[in-house]
Amino acid sequence: GPALVWFRDDLRLSDQPALLAAVDSGRPVCCVFVLDESSEGIRPLGGASRWWLHQSLRSLADDLERAGSGLVLRRGPAADVIAELVGETGATAIHWNRRYGEAERAVDERIKERCRGEGLEAHSHNASLLFEPWEVSTKSGSPYSVFTPFWRACREQRPPSEPLPAVRRIDGWDQRVPSEDLDSWRLQPTTPDWAGGLRETWEPGERGAARRLRDMVDGLPGYAEGRDRPDQSATSRLSPHLRWGEIGPRQVWHTMMAADDSEAASGFLRELCWREFAYHVLFHHPRLSTENLQRKFDAFPWPPLDEDALRAWQQGRTGYPLVDAGMRELWHSGYMHNRVRMVTASFLTKNLLIDWRIGEAWFWDTLVDADPANNAFNWQWVAGSGADASPYFRVFNPETQRSKFDPDDRYVASWVPDLGTDDYPAPLVDLKESREAALAAYQQVRG
Ligand code: FAD
Repeated sequence: GPALVWFRDDLRLSDQPALLAAVDSGRPVCCVFVLDESSEGIRPLGGASRWWLHQSLRSLADDLERAGSGLVLRRGPAADVIAELVGETGATAIHWNRRYGEAERAVDERIKERCRGEGLEAHSHNASLLFEPWEVSTKSGSPYSVFTPFWRACREQRPPSEPLPAVRRIDGWDQRVPSEDLDSWRLQPTTPDWAGGLRETWEPGERGAARRLRDMVDGLPGYAEGRDRPDQSATSRLSPHLRWGEIGPRQVWHTMMAADDSEAASGFLRELCWREFAYHVLFHHPRLSTENLQRKFDAFPWPPLDEDALRAWQQGRTGYPLVDAGMRELWHSGYMHNRVRMVTASFLTKNLLIDWRIGEAWFWDTLVDADPANNAFNWQWVAGSGADASPYFRVFNPETQRSKFDPDDRYVASWVPDLGTDDYPAPLVDLKESREAALAAYQQVRG
């Protein structure tokens, strides 16, 4: 029987440990992707992620085809689907790359036990992280809760392993295994088709990811200066590619280490290690997207939800140009610059006193890089409830941020052409009053 390779957040052929191990085992290989929307605890994908996944699966299927294998698509609870596929193919081994969410790990654990019980080899590998969460710990053996020492540990311990060679030839399992039709999954919007801005902006798939990395190497000298500036395109935009594993962090790490400008490379890798840190935190705190990491924030007196204010924020109609530019960029392109993510998140949680979980859910639905670790981690970081978080009393002033990081209003002008017209809304809240109200609410947590 063949070896099954179960693709999940690792939609690539290079540095692909599960695929390479299956190929190296000498068995014919049967590649499969399972759309699992029904296993217990699995969070449904947001709209922008569904769009991305559609494109990325198409690209992966093409690349696999060229290498000699099909891609079997199935939908359903993963444990059932995998059991069916084992039955249909008579597979004798299964390989996958690890996931780090609690529900996902539970699913994988169950499948591994069942497979082994039936005499199948079941192997999991690491494709998504530089280091496993259980490999990086403090001297006393506990996980890091502060970033700087974590980053130091990442640099000082043995370097992440070298990326594996790309798989170019696959001895594909030649017996027909029925596959569902990607279009029938309806991952892409139809009416209304809101994905035009996404199509304009992104090239999902392994080739697009490699291109972004090459561009980043070229742009490395400008990163330190430019990374905080939404009016410049100094950052890599690798985030959605990393989210779906169209490129792996070890590939990014080693490419950067080989770059000429080692100081700039180190600055960039520090950001990549924030991703790593967020995943390690998720592993140790599985309820990251629903529970305050600092439990004292459970006492935070969030007022009843102001639906109108929430809608104004979502639609980019708060009357604060930098906030509105960010929210419109997000809606149009599925992306927002990091600096502006911080400003819009601060505005929601502090000036509007809306619970960070509501903002996290909106980003989850609209970001193409919506990530089970990074999104919740960063929302909690801004809200002040997270690991090594920004203190709650640091309330970003969106006007000061605008003059500092978009000094010529170039970013604002590109997303808010109605600024200065009668159509542009008046400020939703007074910055000073709303800041004071936020700080007063925070007193209840401190005390
Ligand atoms: P670059 O500056 O080129 O950085 C390279 C890579 O490092 C990124 O692709 C990303 O993988 C990682 N990285 C950089 N900054 C961070 C960070 N602060 N935290 C974690 N990883 C980081 N990032 C996501 O990938 N998915 C999310 O869902 C997400 N939600 C966020 C929500 C909020 C409220 C905030 C403030 C930030 C969020 N981020 C998220 C982090 C960050 O904004 C993006 O990773 C970054 O803007 C992606 O652009 P880039 O690839 O050009 O970044």
